[in-house]
Amino acid sequence: MEQRTALVTGGSRGIGRAVALRLAEDGYDVAFCYRAGGDAAAETADGIKQRGVRCFHAACDVADPDAVSEFVAAAEAELGPVRTLVNSAGIIRDSPLVLMPFDDWQAVLGTNLTGTFNFCRSVAFGFMKRKLGTVVNVSSVAGVYGNAAQANYSASKGGINSLSRAMAKELGPYGIRVNVVAPGFIETDMTAGLTEKARAKATGMIPLRRLGQPADVADLVSFLASDRAAYITGQVLQVDGGIVL
Ligand code: NDP
Repeated sequence: MEQRTALVTGGSRGIGRAVALRLAEDGYDVAFCYRAGGDAAAETADGIKQRGVRCFHAACDVADPDAVSEFVAAAEAELGPVRTLVNSAGIIRDSPLVLMPFDDWQAVLGTNLTGTFNFCRSVAFGFMKRKLGTVVNVSSVAGVYGNAAQANYSASKGGINSLSRAMAKELGPYGIRVNVVAPGFIETDMTAGLTEKARAKATGMIPLRRLGQPADVADLVSFLASDRAAYITGQVLQVDGGIVL
């Protein structure tokens, strides 16, 4: 690869970390950001470097457009132009609609949807100038089908799906591909709070009878980012063990 920098948001933990490590295995230098980071971020960075590629990482609130512009500039100064962007940073603030605090609506839309927009906008002009670049946004099956008590989350992920399709149309003529992976239940900190009962219920609804692993998602991201997916754009691909069948 001539330009081989990947940028992953939310790379300190969970799916973002698995993606960062998978792309490092693919030969990318990897920049990643997080909100707090800490030991988890250091662990991801070690894993990236162990795979023989370069790494840049820093805290960056994806919801803050100025912070995002600064992060992208710093990452590109260190590792060179971004070729692949993966937006994985995300949060949940679940509650029934009638009880949902406005702040929880705003926080989830701000991080999940506006955060994705901020990073896409920050790299898009460079992608267009170079006529090179791929984007993979991490959505959710909740963004396709909706989830009770997740109005904010479902709306944010549905927004990501539509944003990505619009981008695929707008940027396709420049050779830029934009796709979405929509996971079902994946074993990360985000699902660690599930009660045993909820976990058993979820597993019972999944034809493959297990929750997914972050690596299950990372493998699809790796494929979509690569030239093996050269004719795939504007798609929302579910990695969900068949839960919505
Ligand atoms: P985790 O909670 O394990 O990790 C979330 C990551 O996002 C962390 O790296 C966190 O940083 C980062 N992050 C959160 N808020 C911000 C912010 N404002 N700015 C920068 N970074 C931020 O989540 P998962 O790995 O489970 O989820 C990753 C993505 O996959 C999310 O978009 C989620 O919605 C989606 N998803 C997950 C599913 C699941 O079952 N796990 C199912 C469907 C979709 P820090 O470590 O500093 O907090």
